[in-house]
Amino acid sequence: MSNRAAEVVICGAGIAGVAAAYHLAVRRGVGGVVLVDERPPLSLTSDKSTECYRNWWPGPGDTMVALMNRSIDLLEELARESGNVFRLNRRGYLFATADPTRVPAFVRAAEEAAARGAGPTRLHQTASSDYRPAPLEDFEAQPTGADVLTDPMLIRKHFPYLAANTVGLLHARRCGWFSGQQLGMYLLERARDKGVRLVEGRVERIETAGGRVRAVSVSGRHGTETLATPRFVNAAGPFVGQVSRLLGVELPVFCERHAKVAFHDALRAMPRGAPMIIWTDPVRLPWTDDERAELATSPDHRYLFEEFPAGVHGRPEGGGDSPIVLLIWTYDVEPMEPTFPVVFDPAYPEIALRGMSRAIPALAAYLGRLPRSVVDGGYYTKTQENRFLAGPLPVEGAYVLGALSGYGLMASNGAADLLADYITERPLPPYASAFRLDRYDDPEYRDLLDAWGDSGQL
Ligand SMILES: Cc1cc2nc3c(=O)[nH]c(=O)nc-3n(C[C@H](O)[C@H](O)[C@H](O)COP(=O)(O)OP(=O)(O)OC[C@H]3O[C@@H](n4cnc5c(N)ncnc54)[C@H](O)[C@@H]3O)c2cc1C
Repeated sequence: MSNRAAEVVICGAGIAGVAAAYHLAVRRGVGGVVLVDERPPLSLTSDKSTECYRNWWPGPGDTMVALMNRSIDLLEELARESGNVFRLNRRGYLFATADPTRVPAFVRAAEEAAARGAGPTRLHQTASSDYRPAPLEDFEAQPTGADVLTDPMLIRKHFPYLAANTVGLLHARRCGWFSGQQLGMYLLERARDKGVRLVEGRVERIETAGGRVRAVSVSGRHGTETLATPRFVNAAGPFVGQVSRLLGVELPVFCERHAKVAFHDALRAMPRGAPMIIWTDPVRLPWTDDERAELATSPDHRYLFEEFPAGVHGRPEGGGDSPIVLLIWTYDVEPMEPTFPVVFDPAYPEIALRGMSRAIPALAAYLGRLPRSVVDGGYYTKTQENRFLAGPLPVEGAYVLGALSGYGLMASNGAADLLADYITERPLPPYASAFRLDRYDDPEYRDLLDAWGDSGQL
């Protein structure tokens, strides 16, 4: 095949596009795959993630759990075959509450998750219960499902660093984190070994004739190149909507800005072996009387006295010697146009740290003098019900792999595997229809959307 033709052109070398190239070229043997990006691979959203994964997802139905279980199966296969170059662990997600009225909801959530295929529930109601903590690094032979701990002595024994009034813990087990950059580079290298070509440039035009894709024009440093191709995959991350317009297709997606804080935990307030910790109660930020008086002088600061929503979370980052802790708190989710560089609230690190000190009181030692921190992030590109898009578009030969929201690293292998089944016309898994664009044409699905509950966003 000449350099001016391709079997498949993929727009976007973020984790979605790279995983699509890998699943097509390496696992399905498709030749002539070209990956186009105007930026270096994995550099826009895919290197800003907290890099966590979970098979812990709400309904309706078992769709998200089934998709994530498939995606995590693939992550585990990749970890095994690569000698775990991307350091997949299985520390779990630890949901914590100090509100006794929430404890029955933990038990219910664990049982519902079990019914959706996340794995069994284990209740630990006494100090001598056989709760098994997670290992630091390994992911093999670990339990699935969830442990619910309600005995105060048991909670203190295993998690002495949590707030003393913590009354309930839910430890979801098929969850953890890994290096997204290493995963992406591994997939990209394997794909390039199988002939995937990386072209630097911007997809500016998609030519169609007779209702099907014919060619893609890419403008780069050396001018514009036109690639003849029968297939185009839109994996443009936050620009997935804009790129679809080149095909005359409007996608029902929007963007939210999300940031994470990385700070030096010199005091080791968060133990290096901690799981991902999520505080599930709303929080009022702690302030001294002097701080309160000073903040009260400005109406712009009034929000800092109000209750912040549940869900502040964080985890240790890096190997044993690393002092880095990551924190995230999604309290501002206004939809917006994606623009770069992304600008974040300068108060975010302090707000996140104050919030997380509710869960881990030792963090309060930093509140008088904030530690060095770095804020970065990007956009969650989402559909209204927070389920991604993978499948054909209304123009023949055109596909989408996008709207991966805040879970694109964990879902990319499952989503790309699904897309590769469409492109190679293989049998589709049972969850395929839940991620197609045309699900929105189904009146029953639109009714379901009106009554949609939890979107699963943390
Ligand atoms: C703060 C934060 C925390 C997160 N935490 C997690 C987490 O813990 N776990 C998890 O699984 N996910 C997490 N995510 C989400 C995850 O990072 C994203 O879902 C994922 O990176 C999206 O990948 P993508 O390939 O779709 O997009 P991107 O990585 O943005 O890639 C899109 C690519 O398309 C290219 N492109 C766009 N338009 C064009 C064009 N016209 N021509 C050429 N190239 C183009 C861009 O240059 C870019 O490289 C987090 C995200 C954020 C922001």
